[in-house]
Amino acid sequence: KVSKKNARIVFYQGALDKEINDRDHIRHLLFQAVKDHDFFLNYQPIVDLSTGVISGYEALIRWYSSEIGFVPPDAFIGIAEEEGMIIRIEEWVIQQACSDIARLSECESRAINIAINVSYLHFISETFIETLKRVLSETGLSASQLEIELTERVLAEDGHQLEMKMRYLKSMGVKISIDDFGTGYSALNYIKDFSFDLLKIDKSFVQSMLSNDKNQVLVKNIIRLAQDLDIRVIAEGIEQQEQYQKLKQFNCDYGQGYMLSKPVRYEALEPGKQF
Ligand code: C2E
Ligand code: CA
Ligand code: CA
Ligand code: CA
Repeated sequence: KVSKKNARIVFYQGALDKEINDRDHIRHLLFQAVKDHDFFLNYQPIVDLSTGVISGYEALIRWYSSEIGFVPPDAFIGIAEEEGMIIRIEEWVIQQACSDIARLSECESRAINIAINVSYLHFISETFIETLKRVLSETGLSASQLEIELTERVLAEDGHQLEMKMRYLKSMGVKISIDDFGTGYSALNYIKDFSFDLLKIDKSFVQSMLSNDKNQVLVKNIIRLAQDLDIRVIAEGIEQQEQYQKLKQFNCDYGQGYMLSKPVRYEALEPGKQF
């Protein structure tokens, strides 16, 4: 007879096996997807809150597997990092996004920015800067239109190396954002020490801002402090009109979220839309 405790262990073991199997399965499919180029991009507008004009887009990767359907990036980016596939995948993202936005800028006769998420593994790799230079020269996109979004994970790397790379990118004219700010270990001294150009306030703060007074104070003061340090602020995850109005009132520079637009395919972009 299986005791209650043992039954639970058996259950956990079963769940763990399933998780490992799922992961193995995704890893296997991912290798194939990289070979077959089964990815595409969605773009989500980033709106200048003072003018209501779309200043640029964030590129978000999408994977449609004919076997298991849509797989969200959060379910495969980590695996791609562990399996050494992230650089190949992101090189494709950078190429595709820069080429699309160069074309869009041409059509619109104005410089539209493109923000690209880059894994710390890719960012610290030897080839990263070469890749950017190659893509910029091939697509004709100006370096000043390119923003690289990094998470705090990158701050755990060697500080000196990191600073040199950031300074080099800056000298090229490329901008660097700190993504998901406020989650994890982001301390305010990082943004000062590493001279980020942009700071993205994590959507969890934006979404709790109206119901939680302390979070509202925090958001207001992150914006003020960033501006004193000459860093522009993007609020992500804006879903409601009231959040939008509050952020405008706090002089937040840019906004992004479902209320403005969900991420969409290139063909569905409306770069002239006014908010
Ligand atoms: P992220 O960089 O924080 O991107 C924002 C995520 O929030 C996106 O999820 C976006 O669809 C979602 N979002 C935007 N507006 C709203 C809103 O108003 N409400 C809510 N609830 N969500 C909103 P997505 O596309 O599923 O991407 C998840 C994460 O996957 C991204 O988070 C990013 O960390 C990662 N990711 C996506 N593409 C890439 C890539 O090319 N390279 C790397 N390294 N990571 C990527
Ligand atoms: Ca991002
Ligand atoms: Ca984010
Ligand atoms: Ca995130």
